[in-house]
Amino acid sequence: MSFRLFDAPLREPSQFVGFAGNKIDRQSENRADDAVEKAFAERSARLMLMHAGRLYLKLNGGKFDPWFEAAESQPFEVSLDRGVLLGFSENGPVLAVPAGIEPEKLPETVKAIDYRSVYMQGLIDEAAAGALAQGAALLAWHASHAFCSKCGSPSEMRAGGYRRHCPACGTDHFPRTDPVAIMLTATREKCLLGRGRHFGPGMYSALAGFIEPGETIEAAVRRETLEEAGIRLGRVVYHASQPWPFPYSLMIGCFGEPLNEDIQADLNELEDCRWFFRDEVRSMLERTHPGDLITPPKGAIAHHLIRAWVDSE
Ligand SMILES: [Zn+2]
Repeated sequence: MSFRLFDAPLREPSQFVGFAGNKIDRQSENRADDAVEKAFAERSARLMLMHAGRLYLKLNGGKFDPWFEAAESQPFEVSLDRGVLLGFSENGPVLAVPAGIEPEKLPETVKAIDYRSVYMQGLIDEAAAGALAQGAALLAWHASHAFCSKCGSPSEMRAGGYRRHCPACGTDHFPRTDPVAIMLTATREKCLLGRGRHFGPGMYSALAGFIEPGETIEAAVRRETLEEAGIRLGRVVYHASQPWPFPYSLMIGCFGEPLNEDIQADLNELEDCRWFFRDEVRSMLERTHPGDLITPPKGAIAHHLIRAWVDSE
């Protein structure tokens, strides 16, 4: 039986990006206000400990282990009142909890490593990286939303960390996810890549920008491409998405069909922006480019957009 709506491939491209391997059963319908305390009291609870953008990792025989038992977490000055319940694994509840101890005071066997390095260096498995994306985003949101944005009073965490409630005015506040459009503009022969001013040496990537209120994904892709590169787009096609916990974005990856060729790069945003032919891009992906130009690393959604285009011939 065939139904045109579902003619898309079964292997969703989103499964292959970094941070996409989250296997936690969120059980979002069962989030009581005491969910964190209850979960912490279970012997099977597993915790991720975080401090100022860093994940604490136990060093076990040359491998990094991001999971702590509740009893094991005590020396790290965990703030349970600021912890969140991510959900449940096969083994039991999973939490993300801020740790108070400064990284310099950690024992030899525990390292505090910033989220970006954990992800770039592949220090933890895909399922744990997915849990990190969920926990890091939630803890970052709570850390910057301690006060009610309606009346200014201190607000309180509720529902296992999925809501903040203001006791003064009664308003409920919910965690944010900020959508970012990232797009590869491409024809059969060539694609458009840009170099941001903060990029590492030789790196070129797909253009990207925040989706604004009142905008469709497609409209944001067209606007950003026109603003950053002076290229007008025809068709825009969704490809894949990626949770991006810096601090709580969702990258939405698309392909765009260019209607003109002459680039007018916004040099405030970009250091360079130009067309690249397929063979050159392939060499950038494979790290064999004669001028040492490179594409973003494997986990990045930009890498997957570029790879999918290169492989489309
Ligand atoms: Zn309020």
